[in-house]
Amino acid sequence: ATANIGVIGLAAMGSNLARNLAHHGNTVALFNRHYSRTEKLMNEHGTEGNFVPAETLKEFAASLKRPRTAIIMVKAGAPTDATIEQLEKVFEPGDIIVDGGNSFFKDTIKREKEVRAKGFHFVGCGVSGGEEGALNGPSLMPGGTAESWKTLGPILESIAAKVNGEPCVTHIGTDGAGHFVKMVHNGIEYADMQVIGEAYDILRRGLGMDAEEIGDVFEEWNKGDLDSYLIEITAEILHHKDAETGKPFVDVVVDHAGMKGTGTWTVQTGLEFGSPVAAIGEAVFARALSSHGELREDAQKEGLAGPNKTIDLAGEDKAAFIEDVRKALFASKVVAYAQGLNEIQDGAKEYGWDINLSEVARIWRGGCIIRAQFLLDRITEAFKGDNPPASLLFDPYFEKIIGESQDAWRRVIVRAVEAGIPTPVFSSSLAYYDGLRSKRLPTALTQSQRDLFGAHTYGRVDKPGVFHTLWAEEGKPEIEA
Ligand code: NDP
Repeated sequence: ATANIGVIGLAAMGSNLARNLAHHGNTVALFNRHYSRTEKLMNEHGTEGNFVPAETLKEFAASLKRPRTAIIMVKAGAPTDATIEQLEKVFEPGDIIVDGGNSFFKDTIKREKEVRAKGFHFVGCGVSGGEEGALNGPSLMPGGTAESWKTLGPILESIAAKVNGEPCVTHIGTDGAGHFVKMVHNGIEYADMQVIGEAYDILRRGLGMDAEEIGDVFEEWNKGDLDSYLIEITAEILHHKDAETGKPFVDVVVDHAGMKGTGTWTVQTGLEFGSPVAAIGEAVFARALSSHGELREDAQKEGLAGPNKTIDLAGEDKAAFIEDVRKALFASKVVAYAQGLNEIQDGAKEYGWDINLSEVARIWRGGCIIRAQFLLDRITEAFKGDNPPASLLFDPYFEKIIGESQDAWRRVIVRAVEAGIPTPVFSSSLAYYDGLRSKRLPTALTQSQRDLFGAHTYGRVDKPGVFHTLWAEEGKPEIEA
């Protein structure tokens, strides 16, 4: 046995991860259900490092040093379960099975329990950054036992993206914690992409700027505190012209956004915990609305009324308004992060995980789609130490910058609403911010209504206890419930 790590499943992700492992001095055992993929990898990249290809899982297991460590990169769901089952037959207690696929964290919790009962270690590892990240350095979010981390940690550190020399990987927590954090990462990614879309829409439809000009604006924004991979690729896309028609590329793309489900999981899980991830929810729903092609065509035929005007700057400087849009984008993005990070805290409470949010932000700085060094450096700082803030919005840096941006944020939303441009995440994030900072909310009225129609009881602001009003009785007497 010579290999210190194995990869099972050699499609796009698995083969790139295997190559990345080999590039960093690991000896990598290889297995794929159909051997042709293994052969292809060996033919095309076999000279890049030390690989040990195996035709059977038995050979694969024999080529691995103990404790055997294998990363499964097959289709999520039933194929992952089938692979685990087969691996258990050739592995021995103490060996480590890693699922690097996009598994739902509850499946990971279940699998970990079952696999652990048989004496193996099971690690659910979120892998972010797509194919490119898998090859050149992903952000990795592993969840499993501390013991398995001892063996796996150095291997994952060797292949993770590096920011200031630090690998973008940390032991997130036990069982499903890694896949849970990866799920929320994807939810934040949805919101991040949507706020960029909203800013673009305001500049394009609202101000009538062309794609090229807006590309320049994004390029400029990428030099400030919005500096991030997603802003960078947005500038690149907006500067790109379609080869066939010469039109801006963005104008020839069908505007129906797809999704693979991780954003939906983030929102469903948020609903389960009562965790208000409204900005992420709006981003998921914005994609869903965009994909209702027939409904949207019908709306065109109906000719639903709108304001039929562009944004009226009412004498205001255009550059100043564009700066307002930048501030609105930044503030909305910070709220989406605040909501996502709170969902991670809620998940940690629910499942008994000890998750360090500072570390989570640190490992998102490189390798993954939401990578953004400046913002994530700030978030890493915000959650450092023994007394992390209850919300990102309470960190002095973010509190100050959002306080200074809130007027601009409101102006942008008002202008967009007046011009009939939808800004679901800008608006929802501001509503969350205003809800959070309100001393009194109209939910006192909600509680009153619930007590009237359903005897659901209420608390009083002036004394402890639980009360119910006998609404149908003369004088509506109050009783202690
Ligand atoms: P796919 O999701 O397309 O899966 C193809 C691989 O799964 C092949 O190796 C295939 O083997 C194997 N497979 C399918 N069914 C079975 C089965 N029943 N038993 C054994 N093996 C099976 O590959 P990707 O590389 O795109 O993704 C791999 C994993 O990584 C997925 O879980 C995905 O969600 C996750 N992921 C993907 C990212 C991406 O950007 N693509 C990013 C992060 C994670 P065979 O060749 O024999 O058919």
